[in-house]
Amino acid sequence: MKLKDKLSILQAIYDIYDRLFNATPHACQKFCSSCCTVNVTMTSLEGMYILHHIPLEHKHSLYGTIKSCSSPKRYQPKLTLNGFAESCMAGIDIPDEENDPSWGKCPLLLERSCTIYDYRPMACRIMMSKSICDEHGCADMDELTITLNNIFLQYAEHIDEKGFFGNLTDILLFLDHEENGLRQDNTRFSVIKNRAAPFLMIPPEHRKRIVPIIEEIQGKIWG
Ligand code: SF4
Repeated sequence: MKLKDKLSILQAIYDIYDRLFNATPHACQKFCSSCCTVNVTMTSLEGMYILHHIPLEHKHSLYGTIKSCSSPKRYQPKLTLNGFAESCMAGIDIPDEENDPSWGKCPLLLERSCTIYDYRPMACRIMMSKSICDEHGCADMDELTITLNNIFLQYAEHIDEKGFFGNLTDILLFLDHEENGLRQDNTRFSVIKNRAAPFLMIPPEHRKRIVPIIEEIQGKIWG
């Protein structure tokens, strides 16, 4: 599949999620940025989607910010969500992964506002909390929302099966490296391979609610 087509599918998946988000009561508001930490992750296709949409001058400043403001200590996943599903299916132990919001804010957050909001990755879109996160220290989500979020993350990875996954900073550095080769500043990144979804992680009690959404997503992917 061509990159242009994959980007259109990603856009369609974002649109479906955003529509569901807007139809669901939530406490998330503009300038509420407690979930915007340096630990946010995305696929390489999502990174390309950001770079494809922002103007050239913004791209230069984005890379300047990424290189100067990203905390060197950040969540660098060892397993993707589809990799997690695959390991569960095979009965393989899941490695412990450290992820601490105190490591810092997302480098793309400026004055409590996202500088790429319309193009933000799925991991940011799914932070739908029923109450103000600061009151609990994390997003307050019910089980159905968690299932829904996992499905969308699985599809975002699935459509980029041949791509990569990692911390937002690492993916952007990786894409810069792919386009421009090694730079003098010797920036380092760590990314892992995406996986096709071996199955969708849906508990039986959520199937009835989730199936129509899956059909809509699959209609966008396979037409
Ligand atoms: S990309 Fe935007 S929405 Fe996502 S964590 Fe960073 S600032 Fe927040």
